[in-house]
Amino acid sequence: MKDYVILNNGVKMPCLGFGVYQIDDLAQTQQVVENGLEVGYRLVDTAQIYGNEQAVGDALVHSSIPREDIFVTSKIWVDKYGYDQTLQAFDDSMKKLKLDYIDLYLIHKPYNDYYGTWRALERLYKEGRIRAIGVSSFWNERLADLITFNDVKPAVNQIETNVWNQEWKSQQYMEKEGVQPEAWAPFAEGANHIFTNPVLQKIAEKHHKTTAQVMLRWFLQRNYVVIPKSIHRERLAENFDVFDFELDDDDMALIKTLDQGYSVLEDEMDPEIAESFR
Ligand code: NAP
Repeated sequence: MKDYVILNNGVKMPCLGFGVYQIDDLAQTQQVVENGLEVGYRLVDTAQIYGNEQAVGDALVHSSIPREDIFVTSKIWVDKYGYDQTLQAFDDSMKKLKLDYIDLYLIHKPYNDYYGTWRALERLYKEGRIRAIGVSSFWNERLADLITFNDVKPAVNQIETNVWNQEWKSQQYMEKEGVQPEAWAPFAEGANHIFTNPVLQKIAEKHHKTTAQVMLRWFLQRNYVVIPKSIHRERLAENFDVFDFELDDDDMALIKTLDQGYSVLEDEMDPEIAESFR
């Protein structure tokens, strides 16, 4: 299995990375990113709202890995949307990350003036400051709208996907449109005892792997990009060690039975979510 995907503009993106959400301490974030790179990851996912772009930048500066071998993603937050504000917010991200270009920049959530933001991202993309632009948590209807009425098609849509909420319909639409699906919260942040689920445990035992590794392998075999988060070096290593086994059709079918068809973390269709960002 390849360890990368090719996006709709030809850019190569690693299919397994790690995220740094909910790591508030900057020194700890820097350590996690340094550990992740040492373990072998070449994709790191941050966002303005995580408040740790600066620490990711510090880890990149300290790394001896060539810049072009590392794929960096960040995201613009809702309160900075609109054309002019986006240009400014992007410069701010780049300053914190200490980068002169970024690999992937995403619109974090589909609320507020994301149209103005998209047009600013299209400009930055055409100027070569961003290698690929994309979106996050765009359900099919919003994604279709954005694709239909703009020049540049999103390269990636990062959506919550995990065994409880498998998002097959979203993936089908993205594949039809050539948009790469990427999973956030691939472990559902641990909800519903995900790591000790008996179905996953049975499959893990069969392959002499852990349930975390089974879940990550499942994403790779679905052609998803996936970015689990861990503050622990040994778990970062465990989560990266998924290229030496394969789930068979029976395993894939069993995992499908775990789908509840909705998020156990948040209901993105709830109007209160949009209101909470005002
Ligand atoms: P997640 O990856 O689903 O789950 C993280 C949890 O799993 C942490 O509690 C972690 O604990 C634990 N864990 C990790 N590896 C483990 C292992 N091998 N065994 C047992 N436990 C393990 O949650 P997430 O951080 O929300 O999602 C991943 C990334 O997606 C984020 O970091 C962020 O980059 C991105 N994200 C994006 C959005 C968006 O709106 N676009 C939203 C949420 C997240 P420890 O850390 O203690 O090891």
